[in-house]
Amino acid sequence: MEFCTRCGSAACGCRDTALEPPRFCGRCRRRLKVQVTPSGWTAACSRHGAEVARA
Ligand SMILES: [Zn+2]
Ligand SMILES: [Zn+2]
Repeated sequence: MEFCTRCGSAACGCRDTALEPPRFCGRCRRRLKVQVTPSGWTAACSRHGAEVARA
């Protein structure tokens, strides 16, 4: 990941956790389209697609 998926910063102290969905794509820093599902959530980048899905 080049960018923090939490705050979109390239250098921050955040830790990526699986507990909450990310807000930014780690590769292009776009805002992710987050959907909460019964099994967890998915986060889709409009450029890279749904790259994250965790239960
Ligand atoms: Zn951060
Ligand atoms: Zn992306």
